[in-house]
Amino acid sequence: MADELQRWFGERVEADLGIELSDAQLDQYESYYRLLVEWNEKMNLTGITDRGAVYEKHFYDSLTLAVLPEAVSARSLADIGAGAGFPSIPFKIAFPQLEVTIVDSLAKRIRFLQTVADELHLSSITLVHGRAEDIGRLGEHRDRYDLVTARAVARLAGLNELCLPFAKVDGHFIAMKGSDHKAELEESVKSIRLLNAKLRYTRELKLPLEQSERQLIVIGKLGRTPKEYPRKAGIPLKQPLI
Ligand code: SAM
Repeated sequence: MADELQRWFGERVEADLGIELSDAQLDQYESYYRLLVEWNEKMNLTGITDRGAVYEKHFYDSLTLAVLPEAVSARSLADIGAGAGFPSIPFKIAFPQLEVTIVDSLAKRIRFLQTVADELHLSSITLVHGRAEDIGRLGEHRDRYDLVTARAVARLAGLNELCLPFAKVDGHFIAMKGSDHKAELEESVKSIRLLNAKLRYTRELKLPLEQSERQLIVIGKLGRTPKEYPRKAGIPLKQPLI
């Protein structure tokens, strides 16, 4: 049965984000929380382990995507550098019909996510171990997803080159950022143009208890990614297209 924190979480995401969660879904978040803290003792998955903080700063934060029509209408999602599964696993729990692909360069995090997917009985989820620069060149992943997300992976100018190749034409890349996003946006003008994309808008939000600011940056893909991008693994973040 849902306890006080789960009830608070369910009520907040419904009131703020328009997501109605069943008891079974609330149980999935709780199982995810337990796996996260259990595996975090063996490997570095998150600095946040307090139960309330995980629900607010990982689960709720990931679900803020739901305020964007580009996110709720998506049928396929690629989450680049998902680490312990953010934002895609909380989003997948809320929208079980979504087809999710996760790319991360650390094998042990992919192993953790496989356990999460198995124990939560998540279907239509593909876990790919590799660098986004390499995976984004493969035909099965390139120019293919309705929605691409990344949270806490890199500054936007470099991140665009890792993420935009995965989006299909007319699809979107949504970068999840903190309050200091303005300088990042200014230095991203060139990468967005070279990658055949366009900044659509940004949406500001606040976490419900902590009240810290979040920015969702929505970038639309105008045409296929030019074949010279992404450049060789390591280059996009070392020498961003600024
Ligand atoms: N998105 C998660 C979150 O918000 O908690 C994880 C953030 S963690 C700081 C960054 C993750 O990106 C790590 O798991 C790392 O392995 C992955 N990563 C970094 N560079 C990458 C690349 N070039 N390709 C794929 N994954 C990458």
